[in-house]
Amino acid sequence: MLANYHTHTIRCNHASGSEREYVENAIKNGFKILGFSDHVPQPYEDHFYSHIRMRMNEVENYTDTLVKLRDEYKDDIQILIGYEVEYTQKYFDRLLAYLRQYPLDYIIQGQHFAPDEVTGFYAGALTESEQDLIDFVNLTIEGMSTGYYSYLAHPDLINYAGPDEVFQKHMKRIVQASIDLNIPLEINMQGFLIDRNYPCDRFFSMASEMGAKFVIGCDAHTPKDVLQPEATPAFVDFLKRNNIDVGDNIIKLVPAL
Ligand SMILES: [Zn+2]
Ligand SMILES: [Zn+2]
Repeated sequence: MLANYHTHTIRCNHASGSEREYVENAIKNGFKILGFSDHVPQPYEDHFYSHIRMRMNEVENYTDTLVKLRDEYKDDIQILIGYEVEYTQKYFDRLLAYLRQYPLDYIIQGQHFAPDEVTGFYAGALTESEQDLIDFVNLTIEGMSTGYYSYLAHPDLINYAGPDEVFQKHMKRIVQASIDLNIPLEINMQGFLIDRNYPCDRFFSMASEMGAKFVIGCDAHTPKDVLQPEATPAFVDFLKRNNIDVGDNIIKLVPAL
């Protein structure tokens, strides 16, 4: 594939390596487009500290660093400046207004909490609650409907331990929304490589059958994560058995402006 739109930086506190190393590894591994989409900061109240995202005052350094690299490497690779953004009812509009003051090419939706990090639950934690599943699906679709997201990252992050039928009954609504709104669903390569609960067959077999569009995301948290699917034969098998072919993996970005 030629593009990866899901790349982090050390600012999120759980990634490593310099931006330059990510860029050089992407070039070495045959990419022509590298989108940075680090975990977006959130305008939380001062007493709440998130350990998994940059601060609001780091946006300037993040975008400055990427603008410089974008110019320096322009003959070898196209660098894009984005974020992985939680949709929240409470913070979203304020956040976008803030991000728009700096260079911004796109955002992807990464729904890790419902309804938000401060008051909600972590969707990646094992749950048997059908209500958690419903809340996750509703919030995800509400976010997708804003029209600002270029794609939906790890749509199947919710770690629902209940029956497949219940999972599919609700998750089907996300797939339908992605088709109706023309928003590609990400097959998260990082989740596969570190054996997370996603990407899972019970979601992607259904999404594929329904005719959704897909995009592969490296979700790189280290420079070496910017790699081709072919480097992992089991991942290629996953794509094949779910009838997924992303081609060059280049998608049309939606301006988040
Ligand atoms: Zn992360
Ligand atoms: Zn990510």
